[in-house]
Amino acid sequence: MPQEAAGRIPEEMLQRQREFAALLCEVLAGRFGREPRAFVRTFGCQGNEADSERICGILESCGFVPAQSPEDADFILYNTCAVREHAEDRALGNIGRLKQLRQTRRGVRIGLCGCMVQQPHVAARLRESYPFIDLVFGTHAVHLLPELLYRLYDRQNDGGDGRVFEVAQSPGAIAEGLPVRRGGGAKAWLPVMYGCDNFCSYCVVPLVRGRERSRQPERILEEAREIIASGGKEITLLGQNVNSYHAQSESGEAWDFPRLLRALDALPGDYWLRFMTSHPKDCSPALLEAMAAGKHIARHLHLPLQSGNDRVLREMNRGYTAAQYLAVAEKAREFMPGLSMTSDVIVGFPGETEAEFDDTLRLVEQVGYTSLFTFIFSPREGTRAARMDDPTPHAEKARRFQALTALQEGIAARRSAELEGQTLRLLCEGKGKRLALAGRSEGNKVVEFNGSESLTGQFVEVRITRAQNWLLDGEIL
Ligand code: SAM
Ligand code: SF4
Repeated sequence: MPQEAAGRIPEEMLQRQREFAALLCEVLAGRFGREPRAFVRTFGCQGNEADSERICGILESCGFVPAQSPEDADFILYNTCAVREHAEDRALGNIGRLKQLRQTRRGVRIGLCGCMVQQPHVAARLRESYPFIDLVFGTHAVHLLPELLYRLYDRQNDGGDGRVFEVAQSPGAIAEGLPVRRGGGAKAWLPVMYGCDNFCSYCVVPLVRGRERSRQPERILEEAREIIASGGKEITLLGQNVNSYHAQSESGEAWDFPRLLRALDALPGDYWLRFMTSHPKDCSPALLEAMAAGKHIARHLHLPLQSGNDRVLREMNRGYTAAQYLAVAEKAREFMPGLSMTSDVIVGFPGETEAEFDDTLRLVEQVGYTSLFTFIFSPREGTRAARMDDPTPHAEKARRFQALTALQEGIAARRSAELEGQTLRLLCEGKGKRLALAGRSEGNKVVEFNGSESLTGQFVEVRITRAQNWLLDGEIL
């Protein structure tokens, strides 16, 4: 049997969920006497955004319509992130504010889902100290939402206190065919794989998202066709390490990521393909070749560096050295001259010395990124790095963070200046902050320009008239 077919949630189980959704429509119509309203807020990464689009699709199938704010909602759901402590604190702070709403507005129910609640110590804390949260479900239980909501609203739940918790790990089967309500206009997320097998020593993702599993290529192609047919102009393929995508097709053939990219690139239409995240240790020449040969594949590579020092990279369990990273970056630019590269860097990893941090600064300078996501190390329970000695004071980590940010600002300004006078194709994303409209280039640069709002969701050609620091202005041609 093809490997991925074995990893699918059985159709009977999904059918059971559709039946719960239909029952719930009746229960809720009876209870509210009108369409119930749901408000969903997403914290964290694009993977969570994609999950929320499925959650919103499921809520719709259960009879909910979207609410504009928590105050306007009957059901409030926060989809949480666990990657850094700050993300957890934000979610809990926001949830705390809902307590009063839960107590004063009759019929309001509050739910929490996503990576944060998938951690056993957090689930225990929510049970004990957050009695006003009614429903908690983890990343492995999204497809069970109709049944969980039915239990919540029908009160046939397991806790005896009216609350429903579903946070168990599962072997990681994939639920295909869930309803999706996309919220990104012409931009669409398309998950190609879930989980992660890399176990970087600082990272909680493998603990909360489970082992790596890839979707069957036919399902991905089908979804991409639907997105293009409904006017989608930018498809971002999602996975924690898309370069290790491997699946068997219905006919039993082995597919890797370059093959998937080529097949997606061959779909007719006017659209861009992006993907994230690429792991440097698996970024093969075959992938770069497929990218360079693509008609639709954006010339942009997000390649997280994390550190420019070999000892720190080893302690992080990243599986490459600084020289190997640089070689991949150079190879990528050989295949695609002018390629825009972006990255993630962690400063203040336990035991990182100033000299080791300087290696990161040097490498960042050498690669010349378009932009950089910079994070201060955050210890995550259950990870190896959380148990390492960490003698560096927070003030010193903050100084390094500032130094890296300042360096990157200078690099970004130089990169922006190179674009002055050039013509760029942009996908118009809507209102700008300074000029009427804003769009994003293939290389992931935001450009502002004047024009009619009706251009939102369309490709436009602009000439760059002004580059100031990282800000770019242009005029439509
Ligand atoms: N899978 C991707 C990869 O390997 O690059 C990224 C996943 S993670 C959601 C996004 C970024 O968060 C990472 O690239 C890393 O820079 C940062 N990150 C993850 N764990 C962190 C931690 N414990 N402290 C600080 N930053 C962290
Ligand atoms: Fe986390 Fe590393 Fe997996 Fe990325 S590759 S999700 S940083 S463990």
